[in-house]
Amino acid sequence: MEMPESIETLKAQMHAKIKALGKAGLFMSGTFVRKRRVCGNPACACAKGGEAHPACAVTSKVAGKTKAIYIPVGIADEVEAWTSEYKRVKKLLKEIDVLAEKVVRLHVPRARAAKRRNASLASTTATSSES
Ligand SMILES: [Zn+2]
Repeated sequence: MEMPESIETLKAQMHAKIKALGKAGLFMSGTFVRKRRVCGNPACACAKGGEAHPACAVTSKVAGKTKAIYIPVGIADEVEAWTSEYKRVKKLLKEIDVLAEKVVRLHVPRARAAKRRNASLASTTATSSES
């Protein structure tokens, strides 16, 4: 039989994940994409079948439309790391959310049981005082 998770254990797990969030590095949302593009200069080697220029972008959906932010090559590796970090942070947030939901669900039966106890106590008190 699986050990039931306690509220205390779940909360400790939430704290641990929040601590991990605090140690997060710089991040940026979106999908990092590396492409090759032709610059448009007819004199350039890329226009004559040569290798196209590296181009990077971070794409994201904004109001249902794909938005692309072009990333200069010089900062590309750094920004790519930011997008990975964002995924890690997002995953942690999701995990904290799952734990929070479990804590809430564990609380519900307890609150109901307490309410029932209080209700029966109240009715006992009422009957005993009437008699
Ligand atoms: Zn070119």
